[in-house]
This record gives sequence, C-alpha cells and structure tokens, in this order.
Amino acid sequence: MRFATRAVHAGLEPDPGYGGVVPAIHQASTYVQPAPGEFREDYDYSRSANPTRSALERALGELEGGLASAFSSGMAAEHALITAVASAGAHVVIPDDLYGGTYRLVDKVLTRWGLEYTMVDQTDLDAVERAVRDDTALIWVETPTNPTLKVVDVGEIVARRRSAFVAVDNTFATPVFQRPLDLGADAVVHSTTKYLGGHSDAVGGAVIVADAARHEAVRFVQNSVGAVPGPLDCFLVHRGLRTLPLRMAAHSENARAVSEWLRGVDGVRDVRWPGFSGMVSFRHDDAVRIASSTRVFSCAESLGGVESLIEVPQAMTHQSVEGSAAAVPADLVRLSCGIEDAQDLIEDLAQAV
Ligand SMILES: *Cc1c(COP(=O)(O)O)cnc(C)c1O
Repeated sequence: MRFATRAVHAGLEPDPGYGGVVPAIHQASTYVQPAPGEFREDYDYSRSANPTRSALERALGELEGGLASAFSSGMAAEHALITAVASAGAHVVIPDDLYGGTYRLVDKVLTRWGLEYTMVDQTDLDAVERAVRDDTALIWVETPTNPTLKVVDVGEIVARRRSAFVAVDNTFATPVFQRPLDLGADAVVHSTTKYLGGHSDAVGGAVIVADAARHEAVRFVQNSVGAVPGPLDCFLVHRGLRTLPLRMAAHSENARAVSEWLRGVDGVRDVRWPGFSGMVSFRHDDAVRIASSTRVFSCAESLGGVESLIEVPQAMTHQSVEGSAAAVPADLVRLSCGIEDAQDLIEDLAQAV
C-alpha cells in the first residue's frame, strides 16, 4: 500500500470486543492472569506493554519502516536511545544547531556519566569526517535543524560513520518527506508532540530502529526507566497519524506562501524554508515586538500543530544553548505555519511587521 493509505490504517484492527472501527482505549494498568505467569502476548503490566500503546508503536514502525517504541516525550525517547546505544565514557557527535533540549540532555546530564561529545556543523562533511573517531559510538543528526533549518544529507553522514550508530531526529521532516532508515540511518527519533500528533494536545516521543536486537535494547530501557506514554496520549498521537500526509501538504503549502511573501518585506532578512514542511525562520531587528503582535500566529513554544505559532528561539526554546556553540541570534524569529488559510497568515504577519 502507498503511504497515505498506510497512514490511515497502520496499527489499527477493529476492536476485538465489539467491532468498533477504532479499538477501545485500554486504560488498564494491569491484566488478569488465569494462572501465575500466564498472560496474553506481552500484556502483564502496562509499563511493559499496553494495547493502545502497541497499536501506536505498530503504526509508527510501519510509517518509518522499522520497529518502534513510544515514550512519554521526545526527550524521554532521546534519553532511551542514547542510553541503549552508548555507555559511560563513550564519544558522541552532535550537531552545532539543534533542539535545545537535546544539547541540555547531553551537556548537562549525560556528561555526568562521562559521555564525551563533539559539536559539528553537519552540512560541512569534511568537519564531520574530522569529528568522527574510530571509537565514536553515536552520531546524532537533526535535519532540518532547529531553529536555522539547515538540511543535512543523511546518506553522506552514514558514509562517514566508521563504526558509529547513526540516529536522526526526524521531528521537522516527518516520514512524509524523509525516511532516514531508507537512507541508511540506524534509528529515527521523534517528538510526537509536534507533527505526528499534530494538534498540540499530547506530549510524546518515539524511537524507531531498523535492527531487531537494537529494538529489544530500546524496549529494555523503556521498561527499566519507565518513561512510557499514557493510553490516552497514545490514542491522540495515533489519531494524528491518520491525517499526517494531508496536514503536511497543507503545512508545506502555507510555509511556501509565507516564506515567498517574507522575502519581499523591508527589514526582513535571511528567510529560510527548506522546501518542505511547515517551519520558516527569518531575522528582523524587531523580532520580539513582531512575535508579540501577531493575532493568528500564537506566540508559543512547540510546533507542528494545526494552528500557527511564532516564537523567538533565543528568548524561548533555545535558552539552554545560550553561551554554547549552538547559541542562536536574538533577532531570529521562528514560525510554525499551521493549516489555516495562507492569506490570513500573510495578512497577520503584515500587520505585525
Ligand atoms: C520538541 C522537540 C524535541 C523534544 O521533544 P519533547 O516532546 O518536547 O520532549 C526533540 N527534537 C526536536 C527537533 C523537537 O522539536
């Protein structure tokens, strides 16, 4: 089946109890065992497995082309993957333009367990080659990058991996536009809070890996650490997946229209849109005033919902990278273009600018 068809049906079988076309939300924390140690499939306790979560995991795996584990947030997913792949003292390579929380996890938490890291501009392949060592355990890729929307060639990074595991944060692109496992990466990470959920009503994350043994290692951390999403959040993200191709087409079209318009506006510099998805950035001396003056665009952190958001990364999402190599300029504005009418988005920005 083609992608849009799979997006609608992935992970969903009619409810075995009553035949509902959408299965019930399994809120139960535990399952009756007819005799001690006897239970259906792997359902003995809901931290270990839950049918609503399993349905979402099957769907995520199908859309990215691998084996998925769902988490309570994107950060929990990142933490699980890094701890499944790297040990104390390991060397990892991270981008010099990345989600602030990823930098904070590596720099403020994991370095306390001896993790060593090198930051590099991953669009500079010679620099990547110099950063990767024989003992590098993990190369963390984010593309397009957050917030400056640089596009990294995943295949070229894989070609320079030596023996490192390659993980790609696919939150901005989604599997509609980029399937990192098909490009040779070992793992994909998502903040499902963003485009996959798509309605700004659930926080969640996912890891999808190609290899079955790695999948078991990630699931082992998932169960051991326990940062699992609740059934209702799984249901909401799964429902979001069903309209993902339609929403991504609308996000892209609006971002194209908004970025084209911005390029002709006085005082607006360095307009960026990678050519797909709904994220746009630009620079303007009055960044803070503009982000405080829009009416359709809400000034808020996060992205990827049906409603448009505006933010100033330096003052909002990227506080944790201040003073590091990943610091962002104060005049940068980031837009998450929603699925409203493009003309309303442009008129809103026009009155604000
Ligand atoms: C939001 C985000 C994360 C973190 O996800 P949470 O669900 O907020 O924990 C990671 N990577 C990127 C690119 C993000 O935008």
